[in-house]
Order: sequence, then C-alpha cells, then structure tokens
Amino acid sequence: MSLSDRIEELKEENDAVIVAHNYQVGEIQDAAEFVGDSFGLARKVTELDVSNVVFCGVDFMVESAAVLNTDKRIIHPESQAGCPMAQMVDLDELRDYKEKNPDAAVVSYVNTNIETKAESDVCCTSSNAVKVVESLDNPKVLFVPDRNLGHYVKRFVQDKEVDLWEGYCATHDDIMKEDVEKLMNEYPEAEVVVHPECKPEIVDIADFVESTAGILERAKTTSAKHMIIGTEKEMGYRLKKEVPEKEYHFPGDPTCQNMKKITLEKVVRSLERLEPVITVDEGLASRAKKPLERMIRIGRGSE
Ligand code: SF4
Repeated sequence: MSLSDRIEELKEENDAVIVAHNYQVGEIQDAAEFVGDSFGLARKVTELDVSNVVFCGVDFMVESAAVLNTDKRIIHPESQAGCPMAQMVDLDELRDYKEKNPDAAVVSYVNTNIETKAESDVCCTSSNAVKVVESLDNPKVLFVPDRNLGHYVKRFVQDKEVDLWEGYCATHDDIMKEDVEKLMNEYPEAEVVVHPECKPEIVDIADFVESTAGILERAKTTSAKHMIIGTEKEMGYRLKKEVPEKEYHFPGDPTCQNMKKITLEKVVRSLERLEPVITVDEGLASRAKKPLERMIRIGRGSE
C-alpha cells in the first residue's frame, strides 16, 4: 500500500484531517484537506467537526491552532520544526520595553511563540498588519518580531511612532535584489509579487506586496503570463496546481528548512499513534487568545 493510501485509511479510521502550510512539500500539500497560511489554517481548524487534526507547519502555527481549538487533539508530526524568527524574541527584553514605554502597544505578528503573544496587545498577519496598527489609539507601537514587515507597515502609518524589533525571517531576508532584477530582465513582462517579509529594497521594486493568500489571488486574477514570486519556493507548487497556465519564477532558492522537517513518513506515524499532541498551558493560552481574538475583531471592523 502506498503512503498516500495508508494516510487516507488512517484519516478515516481516526476521524482526522490534515492541514498544511503553503511552504510544505507538494506531497504533503496533496495529502492535506486544507492548504493555506498560518492563521487561515488555525481558523479553518475551528470550523472542522473532527477529533484529530494533524497540523503540518512550524511550532508557532500549531500552538495558535491549539490555543483556538481546545476541543480537538492538535498533532504536530515533527516537534523540532520551529521558526527561527519566532525564537528571536527575548521575553525579558520585551517586558523591559513595555515597562519603559507604558503608552506603546505591542503588536505581534502571528509568527511568534505563545509566550510572546501573551505579552502582546494585539496580533496581526502579513495581510492585516497595516489595518491592525492603524486601528490602535496608542501614539506608539512596538512591532514584533519581523523588522521587514514592520518597515512595510511604517510606509502606511504616519500618525504613530513605530518601533521595530530586530527579527527577520532568513528565508525571505536572503532574497537578493540582484536575483529579482535578473529575473525582471529575463521576463520584462512579468508581474513581480513579493511577501512583506522581504527586505525593503525588494518591496521597492515589486509590483505588488502580498501574503501567500494574496499571491495566489494575484495569480488567479492577473493577465500576466509570467510571475516573479518573492517568497518560499514551495508556494510555486500550490500556484502551479491551482493556476497551471502561468509560469512562476523564484529569485534564488528561498527555502525554509524547518518546514521541510515534516515528511510524509512522519505524517503517517502521527496518524498511527495520534501524537505528538500539542498542549498549551491554560494560563498562557488564555492570555495569548486575547490578542488573537482582538485581531479577529479588528478584521471584522468591530473594533
Ligand atoms: S518561512 Fe520564515 S517565518 Fe516562515 S517558518 Fe520559515 S523561518 Fe519562520
């Protein structure tokens, strides 16, 4: 029996579904019922009527799903799959900043660990970061942890002082301007769409700056035949699967090694054993839930 057939059998036996981030390898995306960005998946899980969810992504994503879905068993096939950017937040330093800046709101990207979220006033995603920061009454904001997404937010927010944490996602930060320009010369008619985790100099030369969901949407709507994409290379798998008539070009080889720690074999093992289950400390979870829920209210326009 193939691994894929075994997975289907186990899902049925164990009342389980698989969700996978856009940066997971193609065979895992194919095994998943839902593929998307981190927060989209966490919210999707809340709508599912199942006992077990195998979450193929890095640790902060699985934690967010566990915080928002206490009624389900959230299983992470590889607990060593973490996010180096989320780990760039030193909690003592963050608490020290808060003490020295009582007027400032801490806005944390969802790409943070539960401890950071628990110290935050509100969370944001790459697609709603500007809206979230604009909605706040505070004169000052600390944007945590991605300095590049923070720089992007600063382009739109003039009425607040925005301090930036010095974190970054190496996968996006390593995308080089020369590599993007080389592709632009090769495909002068291509549309350039980049993720806001890229450096400001990449954002400057892009036609559009979008989250992964936004990149997919551009592919579906643009008339351009070629697209230059500034994000993790596995996004190309999803783009090709959903919009096969276009050609996608990635500058360099942007790879998140942590996302690749999950394999189809590990997914099978997780489904067989229904572990490792991600549990979150109740106190921390209830503090982390507040900034997540506040972000959702802002998204609905109810705050
Ligand atoms: S792509 Fe970047 S932000 Fe996403 S999990 Fe990997 S290191 Fe973290």
